[in-house]
Amino acid sequence: LVELSHVEKHYGDLHVLKNINLKVGKGQVMVVLGPSGSGKSTMCRTINRLETIDSGVIRIDGEPLPEEGKDLANLRAEVGMVFQQFNLFANKTILQNVTLAPMKVRHMSKQEAEDEAMELLARVGVDSQASKMPAQLSGGQQQRVAIARALAMHPKVMLFDEPTSALDPEMVNEVLDTMSELAHEGMTMICVTHEMGFARQVADSIVFMADGKILESGTPEEFFENPQTDRAKDFLSKIL
Ligand code: ATP
Ligand code: MG
Repeated sequence: LVELSHVEKHYGDLHVLKNINLKVGKGQVMVVLGPSGSGKSTMCRTINRLETIDSGVIRIDGEPLPEEGKDLANLRAEVGMVFQQFNLFANKTILQNVTLAPMKVRHMSKQEAEDEAMELLARVGVDSQASKMPAQLSGGQQQRVAIARALAMHPKVMLFDEPTSALDPEMVNEVLDTMSELAHEGMTMICVTHEMGFARQVADSIVFMADGKILESGTPEEFFENPQTDRAKDFLSKIL
């Protein structure tokens, strides 16, 4: 469903993505691991065109990403993204946060959008908070709203970039549980995370990046039980 072929990107002199090749099948969950600065966030951001690439191809459902300016709104609808910082609209209610884009981009009526938003908020367990403002919610609740907001666009794939890194420890699991449920329901997901339990239990494949390159890719068993490179061994020894 998502395919990157020979993707290259530079920031000035910095070669941040080097010949990135990967495939994520429909309904599959890929976890991206790697040290800080290895290019994980940059790679995620190229998939919904928050970043452009210098060369190579990114395909979603067989279609190359649209050229700049063209059909970007549709692409952003197809590729949901959840960031470390929750990025909710601070001056809108929880319900409005979820209904805004469907009304604007998917041209849903207010009633339709609100009905669906309430279903999604219930699914992630925060429907009782619908009329509150984001600042009135805990970090874990806000992050679950961010997931519901992305789901409201009916994305084909969801990207998660360290969605639990900014959370207090006791809230990490409620967000990981929501992500696991989503995975079990068949969502295609690419997740940058340092949560190794999630990576082991939920991922179908693991990609390990360092210095802008994919050094290893395989199943969680292969990666965790038998890492091939010194960089990966070193990374695992620090994190486990
Ligand atoms: P972390 O685990 O810390 O989130 P990461 O693997 O997500 O790291 P990236 O954020 O993708 O890494 O950054 C990769 C490299 O690109 C880093 O050296 C970073 O400093 C650099 N970089 C990221 N964004 C930009 C930018 N907009 N302009 C210039 N350099 C950037
Ligand atoms: Mg990052």
